[in-house]
Amino acid sequence: MAAHSDPAGTVVLGGGFAGAYVARMLGRRGATIVSPENFMLFTPMLPEAASGTLEPRHTVVPLRMMCPHAKLLLGRVVGLDAERQRVRVETEEELVTLSYAQLVVALGAISRALPIPGLAEHALPFKSLADAIHLRNHVLRRLEAAAGATSEGHRRRELTFVFVGAGYAGVEALAELADLVRDALRFYPSLRHEPQHWVLVDAAPKILPEVPTRLGEYAARQLARRGVDIRVSTTLNAAEPHAVTLSDGSRILTSTLVWTAGVQANPLLAQLGLPLDERGRVRVDATLRIEGVQNAWSLGDCARVPNEATPGRFDPPTSQHALRQARRLAKNLRGDARPYRYRTLGEVATLGRHRGIANVFGLPIRGFLGWWITRTYHLYQLPLLSRKLRVVADWTTSLFFRRDIAELSMLGHPQRLIDTVTESDGDSPS
Ligand SMILES: Cc1cc2nc3c(=O)[nH]c(=O)nc-3n(C[C@H](O)[C@H](O)[C@H](O)COP(=O)(O)OP(=O)(O)OC[C@H]3O[C@@H](n4cnc5c(N)ncnc54)[C@H](O)[C@@H]3O)c2cc1C
Repeated sequence: MAAHSDPAGTVVLGGGFAGAYVARMLGRRGATIVSPENFMLFTPMLPEAASGTLEPRHTVVPLRMMCPHAKLLLGRVVGLDAERQRVRVETEEELVTLSYAQLVVALGAISRALPIPGLAEHALPFKSLADAIHLRNHVLRRLEAAAGATSEGHRRRELTFVFVGAGYAGVEALAELADLVRDALRFYPSLRHEPQHWVLVDAAPKILPEVPTRLGEYAARQLARRGVDIRVSTTLNAAEPHAVTLSDGSRILTSTLVWTAGVQANPLLAQLGLPLDERGRVRVDATLRIEGVQNAWSLGDCARVPNEATPGRFDPPTSQHALRQARRLAKNLRGDARPYRYRTLGEVATLGRHRGIANVFGLPIRGFLGWWITRTYHLYQLPLLSRKLRVVADWTTSLFFRRDIAELSMLGHPQRLIDTVTESDGDSPS
């Protein structure tokens, strides 16, 4: 086992929103980021990466560019010795021990899976860049399958898309992908007049429960106008390879089930022996220090963060809050330890086709302006000028050209040389 010792240093576990911003804001003071990827995923743009409005690569920010003074150790934390102030990290090559003076735990959340028959096997998650790319390819494949279908029933099944979870991620992903399908169908003459069936399911009595009721109702009306079948106060009972059963008794034939029904704190936190609440989140005090663990701090989706501005309520799992927590934590690590306090600016969401909603300082804005504010806010939040320009270029291009409908699922599976040799052996004249 290799040992990397910098006992005076700060080690940040996780290179997501929270971890990357802490390291960035520590500036020249430096830190070591432990992350399985060398980039930070800008999740608010993930639905657009899935629909192809944005090149997926442009929705991630390389950690070495974002945090030029930080060191990066590519790997996964697998153990913590809080007494001796060490973490164990598994890299591609070896097991590494890192000593730290201060530890920042920013391990985020994972998709929350419920014990629903068939869910784990048949539902597609929507949390990572790989999920977004996979979903886009999957949807384009459904169009190819529908075009080649020989029966009406098969065609209808392939053109039916079920999303479970009507929070931001579910609503935005559905709206963006519905736009992708609508645009793509121009190139499928045999499907042009075929009806599509988009279903949005949620256990709550309304969609987008995080936004003010009027905006939520507007979003529901917009989606319904575009033919989305919204089923609230409804749960998924079972999933099969080509069907889902809902609690309202319906059985829907579909080859696409997308699961966006919330997140849960990273289960690894329990293995690290950290103090957790009943939802598995790290317990921190008002300054973001982990309760009862020396020189350790936590923030973001993996932590239960009290907020002085909202007494009695903990922060929701959003990038907006992770970013503000990171700002406070970076100052606290510099020795100016004060309680975290942040009053939310509001909420924004896109609904596809130049429609969106924004609640800015309590002012509800909808329609084109809501969409424009959402995009502008996300662009402002995206780190690095070079990334912002790439995104603007993508958006501008998409105004003038049709979406790319190439299905690229083979990208993750390059042909091995040995396969090529075997294939060409058969063809070669002897
Ligand atoms: C589809 C989608 C859309 C969203 N849209 C919005 C939005 O519009 N607005 C908004 O405010 N919020 C949005 N969110 C929520 C936002 O993404 C999160 O609140 C935010 O990412 C939290 O930051 P985090 O650093 O705590 O977690 P993450 O960003 O998830 O980062 C956790 C990091 O920990 C790393 N990690 C995991 N295990 C290990 C390990 N063993 N060792 C080392 N590293 C590890 C992961 O690779 C990851 O990089 C969205 C989320 C999703 C999924």
